[in-house]
Amino acid sequence: MTERTFLAELTGSFSTSAAQNPTVAIMEAAFAEADLGIRYINCEVPSNRLADAVRGAIGQGWLGFNCSIPHKLAILEHLDELAPSAAIIGAVNTVIIRRDPDRLIGENTDGQGFVASLRTVIDPMGQHVVVLGAGGAARAIAVETALAGATSITIVNRTPDRGQELADLIDTRTPAAARFLPWTPQLHVPHGTGVLINATSIGFHPDEADMPDVDLATVEAGTVVADVVANPPRSRFLQAAEEHGAVTLDGLGMLVNQALTNARLWTGHDLDGAVMRRVLEEIFAG
Ligand code: NDP
Repeated sequence: MTERTFLAELTGSFSTSAAQNPTVAIMEAAFAEADLGIRYINCEVPSNRLADAVRGAIGQGWLGFNCSIPHKLAILEHLDELAPSAAIIGAVNTVIIRRDPDRLIGENTDGQGFVASLRTVIDPMGQHVVVLGAGGAARAIAVETALAGATSITIVNRTPDRGQELADLIDTRTPAAARFLPWTPQLHVPHGTGVLINATSIGFHPDEADMPDVDLATVEAGTVVADVVANPPRSRFLQAAEEHGAVTLDGLGMLVNQALTNARLWTGHDLDGAVMRRVLEEIFAG
């Protein structure tokens, strides 16, 4: 018989504002289901308290933590090591705390979660990929999709400088060829595109009536159209793309796969993604 323990192992998240972040709900549900004695604590951490929060996590023996807005860049100065793709992306959303000696390792699992979700419908290897957006999510997705073997990445963004900068990053730091395409009204999706990704915040609750300005008639049948927006899970963009014959992929898959990757990095265990997805669907339905 194993001895009863009253001590949980700890993981969690540092962000502000933390109250609307649903990650705690899916991590707690999946950890409870796996009966691992691991907890995930959602912490409200303002910018001027990040260093204290990091020291607290080390002192309390945490396995690691997520950092969300506004800490994804500020956390870099607290780390001992950066995973290769996080170094290219230049931002970290997951920190693993190793012991003896203490070492903080930064990962970016946003894009890894997206690629894991993408692999459920298509292998990114050899694909021509179009990314709408050049913010944090787009950057992580473009880098990881390129590292997963996409042949080309086309970045389309409202602000040209930001889009060009991301295209240059992909072109110089990954094996994929990349270019910036200005976002003209009713954007024509280039011929041969295998994967089209909305990595902007367009369509996010409460603006679910909005959708990216794309001429969906130019999406070829069988193209995978993905959305990072997880709330609502069936965005207007995905519904319209499906009507035009696209294979669609929702933002819940990215969120769940990112959480699965984080849990694996912290604990070595594979949690149940179906449990996480069910919890998210309940939250966003409410
Ligand atoms: P950022 O603020 O870093 O970037 C926002 C991007 O959206 C920019 O490219 C911006 O263009 C573009 N954008 C916003 N509004 C418009 C508009 N009206 N017209 C054209 N372009 C617009 O945000 P993030 O990258 O961090 O997040 C983007 C989305 O991804 C959010 O909805 C977030 O919830 C979601 N997300 C989902 C995850 C998941 O697991 N499903 C994980 C992480 C994020 P510009 O440069 O011109 O301002």
